[in-house]
Amino acid sequence: CPAFCFQDVNKLYPSRDGLNVEALRNINFEVSRREFVTVVGPSGCGKSTLLKILAGITDATSGRVEINGVLQQGPSVEIGVVFQSPVLLPWRNILENVLVPAEIQKRDKKQSKDKAYELLNMVGLNGFETKYPKELSGGMQQRVGIARALINDPSILLMDEPFGALDAMTRESMNMELLRLKESIGATIMLVTHSIPEAIFLGDRVVVMSPRPGCVEEIMTIDLPEK
Ligand code: ADP
Ligand code: ADP
Repeated sequence: CPAFCFQDVNKLYPSRDGLNVEALRNINFEVSRREFVTVVGPSGCGKSTLLKILAGITDATSGRVEINGVLQQGPSVEIGVVFQSPVLLPWRNILENVLVPAEIQKRDKKQSKDKAYELLNMVGLNGFETKYPKELSGGMQQRVGIARALINDPSILLMDEPFGALDAMTRESMNMELLRLKESIGATIMLVTHSIPEAIFLGDRVVVMSPRPGCVEEIMTIDLPEK
């Protein structure tokens, strides 16, 4: 039973001049539970759109998206999302930032707090709980974003160029940590990147999106040998 699947998904963005922008054309693929799939393709080929549809942030124009066997109908706690920059609340400390989604879901306070400590430890931020975002480096802030995305135990973690804003060295070490993290979180992961080496390094499987002007006509899956 797949974690999620796309069936004949199309996406058009309306634009002011009346000409629609075709972002996705006829997308079909499925991802198994606990798989780590990377999506690679050049800028503008529709990677972010794919992820936003999956996250329920935007709708497909046509086609079907299923998550855990259920039709996608908007944002859900089953899905955690990490964007390029984490947008932390500057007036809240690190622990309180991680707890935001738990508060929105009105989860048990004590349990959530324990979970937040555990997650911060997992992303290597043990001892930073009472620091404020501005006291942390970009890489550390992004780790906070990852912990925050995991606070409600999502079964699916979506990441859109999560380390794209970081310098090359930090990016590489964050990628290595992400592979270690994958073992402990047990979620299905889909990560979008424009870097082919990154996609191959991180993925169990790589989905390659190839652009024709203004749209995606092809989506192919490359299965990689066992790591
Ligand atoms: P990426 O880094 O994923 O390629 P961009 O920098 O191209 O993203 O765009 C950032 C965001 O701006 C996108 O996620 C999208 O929602 C929005 N965006 C991109 N292109 C357009 C557009 N032509 N009109 C309106 N919004 C756009
Ligand atoms: P990628 O993440 O691969 O860079 P996107 O999914 O951001 O690609 O964009 C795919 C196409 O859709 C691009 O042509 C982009 O300009 C367009 N697009 C994205 N978001 C919007 C939007 N909100 N409004 C109009 N066009 C958009």
